[in-house]
Amino acid sequence: MSAAVTFGGVIDLKIDLQARGARIPDWLHSRAGGAGPADGITVFLDGMPVTVPTGAWYVRRSPYEMRPSGESWELLLDGAAVCGLDVAGEPEYYRKTTPESVPYHKVALRHGRDGIGSTVVQGCVHGEGSCRFCAITVSAASGVTVPRKKPEDVARAASAALLEGYSHIVLTTGTTGDGDRGVEPLRRCAAAVKGEADMKVHVQFEPPGDPGLIDRIAEVADSVAINVESFDRDTLTRMAPGKSATGLAEYEIAWARAVKVFGAGQVTSFVIIGLGESEESVMEGCRLLTSMGVYPFLVPLRPLAGTLLEKWSPPGAEKMKGVYERAAAIVAESGLRASICDSGCVHCGACTAFTDITG
Ligand code: SF4
Repeated sequence: MSAAVTFGGVIDLKIDLQARGARIPDWLHSRAGGAGPADGITVFLDGMPVTVPTGAWYVRRSPYEMRPSGESWELLLDGAAVCGLDVAGEPEYYRKTTPESVPYHKVALRHGRDGIGSTVVQGCVHGEGSCRFCAITVSAASGVTVPRKKPEDVARAASAALLEGYSHIVLTTGTTGDGDRGVEPLRRCAAAVKGEADMKVHVQFEPPGDPGLIDRIAEVADSVAINVESFDRDTLTRMAPGKSATGLAEYEIAWARAVKVFGAGQVTSFVIIGLGESEESVMEGCRLLTSMGVYPFLVPLRPLAGTLLEKWSPPGAEKMKGVYERAAAIVAESGLRASICDSGCVHCGACTAFTDITG
């Protein structure tokens, strides 16, 4: 692979690609379907993992195009070559199946460079109050995944992926109405993975009513995301009514408990940029999170097909750079770094340049 850009240039390119997406050949779309985060593909720019939107409406007018070049790929901007890149291939474990003949790619997908991910419960109790940007029920309806994963199947897929060098797994869930908000099904899957594979486990959930559940899941997981999504109360109420109803105080209780048992830097919260929030709310949120030992995972909005935001666009590159720069200063002052985190999205960093900037 070759790249005609410097390291700083690669970060700029990553930010711009995530803002505008890239056009790719139709056949790559069909091969990449379902792999990694929805409506996109994973590429490597000078070795840096980058998830790039390829399926959304705004991609059609993107100046970026990816096309095969010999054994590798080439990135073009307005028809002119920018650099070479690699496109993540399909893992071999995708061809294996569970004892009930469910292909492993319906159980866990490749994420970034060395991760896999599984949505343990592919549904959400919030219904009308569910997050406007979330596609969890879209993929459930499409049949590309198993609606509720069995712990033993997740462990089998993780074992197979481990043989190929995948070293961490992201276990997430829709919020369930079982009182534990989905933490127990996650814990069972995390325990099964730990029992079968020498793999780091990252879990993501909403604050459970009983913070003691965080202690229990910490026994079988290495890092955790408890995602508030936005610190702008009006924006959160519009975009994630269910989470807004939970209230920030409950998140703070959960973050504090999580830092106590997982350790500073192993706890994160997604902060989505581009939902209409004020920039000051992002900075206030970053100050709050870092003061607690929680790494703020700033990520640009990626409007997904089938969601209520599917006609939206991601925030522009200049806006993202400004937000990243200000927030990175807050993270640096706290002593936190993305590289502290040993698993999950902060460790992976393919969906944001913030982890590269705060490495
Ligand atoms: S940053 Fe998170 S969601 Fe994105 S590819 Fe990596 S593990 Fe998956």
